[in-house]
Amino acid sequence: MSNTIKSINPYNQEVIARYTLNKKEEVFSKLEKADEVFKEWSQKDVSERAELLYNIGNILEERLEELSKLITLEMGKPISESKAEIKKCIYLCDFYAKNAEDFLADEIIETDAYESFISYDPLGVVLAVMPWNYPFWQVLRFAVPTLTAGNTALLKHASNVSGCALAIEEIFTEAGYPHGCFQTLLTNHDTIEEIIKDDKIKAVSLTGSEKAGKAIAKAAGENLKKTVLELGGNNACIVLEDADLDKHIDTIVKARMQNAGQSCIAAKRFIVTENIYDNFLEKFTKKVAALKQGDPLNMDTEIATLAREDLATDLQNQVEDAIKKGAKVVLGNRQNKAFFAPTILTNVTKDMAVFTEETFGPVAPIFKVKNLEEALQLATDSRFGLGTMLFTEDTEAAMHAISRIPDGAFFVNEMVKSDPRLPFGGTKASGYGRELSREGIHEFVNIKTVFIN
Ligand code: NDP
Repeated sequence: MSNTIKSINPYNQEVIARYTLNKKEEVFSKLEKADEVFKEWSQKDVSERAELLYNIGNILEERLEELSKLITLEMGKPISESKAEIKKCIYLCDFYAKNAEDFLADEIIETDAYESFISYDPLGVVLAVMPWNYPFWQVLRFAVPTLTAGNTALLKHASNVSGCALAIEEIFTEAGYPHGCFQTLLTNHDTIEEIIKDDKIKAVSLTGSEKAGKAIAKAAGENLKKTVLELGGNNACIVLEDADLDKHIDTIVKARMQNAGQSCIAAKRFIVTENIYDNFLEKFTKKVAALKQGDPLNMDTEIATLAREDLATDLQNQVEDAIKKGAKVVLGNRQNKAFFAPTILTNVTKDMAVFTEETFGPVAPIFKVKNLEEALQLATDSRFGLGTMLFTEDTEAAMHAISRIPDGAFFVNEMVKSDPRLPFGGTKASGYGRELSREGIHEFVNIKTVFIN
């Protein structure tokens, strides 16, 4: 087995850098270090830990250009989106810097005790297994609340974004976190499953595919470690006949095409009522066809490349399956190495992979339905449960639909998106647990009951 991993620019297949994997002893000594530093880090006041978040925000601001370029080179997203990702991380730091103390304060509960309250204590070393699609955001979304709560963290990042992984570690050090609070592991799956067995790892957070989630949850479960899993999604985007298309069409296009469709919360199944179907298809196709393709380093590029060639090949197979079963290609369906052209499919049916599986790329299957009832039935007919979006001017119908959606999120006249102020996570095969907001910072703490008489 090779002891190096390469970062390859998916836009031109150039090798950007080679990284030597950590030896197994190095991985375990990093774990040792994370456990050791936890003892002092966990005893600091929350305010002291939260203060450091401003330093991270400042560093991200100062290094915005360089870090955005690194993201784009390693995983191919348009540079404007890489910049937006870093800016969102800055907002995240600011949010928890201002709110962590409140979220982690003791909560007095009146009982028959002289005094009783809940305290939120850190757990210890938390392992994060993270994906490449938002290589900074996914990691910071986990690390910012988890470290501020007093835990320490080890990161196993996706092997195509090792440059980002090491840059994030460097940023924590530069921001003044004690050495060992946040460390990156460059290692393989077997070693990750092995360290999960170690008593020093207290919990694991994973964002990625269902397959990876199951493997990590199994290893953690066998050792009674808590997990938070943020897995794939197959979000429905319902468009009713009274939707204001002129107002929302750009949002609907972005909901699918942002990050070349490589987002767990992207709109992946478009469900449109028959009275607006032709109008929707025309407007949607026109906008998607107009997306500017090109070099991801150009500021005006909107669609560049997927993160790896195998991901584009997987997508091509899903589209081929649909065509074989009767789907019609309205636009796109062209692969060139890691590039996959924005694609629109109609005549789609429930037996096609584009309906049953997550499509992690710019492919939009469009379903025609009679009414909201039929739309809801189709939308909820999914193994996944990350989110649903509904476009309508009928607020009452939207309110009525809330209890019918078994997902982690329901967005009306807006694309499903994460926001540090709101909890984020899924149901069913999309995983469990929540990130962000008050709920997110409480995932990796011991919710301790204190009863004093
Ligand atoms: P993976 O789920 O395989 O990778 C995500 C992370 O998990 C990576 O760090 C990967 O490491 C790690 N990982 C995977 N299996 C194990 C294991 N057994 N032990 C330890 N670590 C593991 O995603 P892929 O990159 O292969 O993408 C495949 C599909 O997954 C996509 O097409 C998409 O459907 C879904 N996905 C969903 C994401 C989301 O945001 N929910 C994000 C990324 C992918 P390594 O890179 O070394 O394999």
